[in-house]
Amino acid sequence: MDLYEYQARNLFRQHGVPVLDGAVATTPEEARSAAQSLLDAGSDLVVVKAQVKTGGRGKAGGVKLARTAEEAEARARDILGMDIKGHTVRAVLISDGVDLDAEYYFSILLDRAERQYLAMCSREGGMDIETLAAERPEALARVGIDPLEGVTPAVAHRIVEAGALADEVAAVIERLWEVFTAEDATLVEVNPLVKATDGRIIALDGKVTLDDNS
Ligand code: GDP
Ligand code: MN
Repeated sequence: MDLYEYQARNLFRQHGVPVLDGAVATTPEEARSAAQSLLDAGSDLVVVKAQVKTGGRGKAGGVKLARTAEEAEARARDILGMDIKGHTVRAVLISDGVDLDAEYYFSILLDRAERQYLAMCSREGGMDIETLAAERPEALARVGIDPLEGVTPAVAHRIVEAGALADEVAAVIERLWEVFTAEDATLVEVNPLVKATDGRIIALDGKVTLDDNS
């Protein structure tokens, strides 16, 4: 079972993965008041994000930045009802936004063929990973994870080195491994996992698939 982004973010938060605050809205008016709450709490940027179980929302026009509650309402009006790859947008996530320094790709998945887990990461996150994997496979680092060892601090460090990510990402990778094991996931993907201009490492997007047999 695939989760919506807002559900993935909630799981991340529960396991100590840094995520931004946000609320789900199903009408432009709800979007406006959710944005106002974030702005009142001190944000100066909010992001309106289509909640559909497919990637490429940004490219399809389903992710928009807003600086005011009025703008957020207008963007929510544009996005609600939109069709993204055959999925009708019924809800938007109104999220806090940040200024970005770097956008990484990170995922952990079950590699059935190799009977182990596999971590993949790249300094070139943000764009869709199928394109990166096809056109520049060398830019996507792969590190096998021994199921009996798991992601220890040393393994997390090895993953960070393989992808030449910022050192601080290692601690977040350990938390994402906890999400993967504790929630019985077969996929945990964060694209982008960002370094904000203020130095914070944040899971900006999340895709989680839970094992249906769990
Ligand atoms: P996807 O296109 O479905 O994968 O949706 P994402 O959640 O990954 O968002 C798409 C893109 O929107 C990201 O790669 C970022 O470039 C941009 N974006 C999302 N949130 C923010 C934010 O808080 N600040 C900035 N500057 N860009 C953002
Ligand atoms: Mn994404």
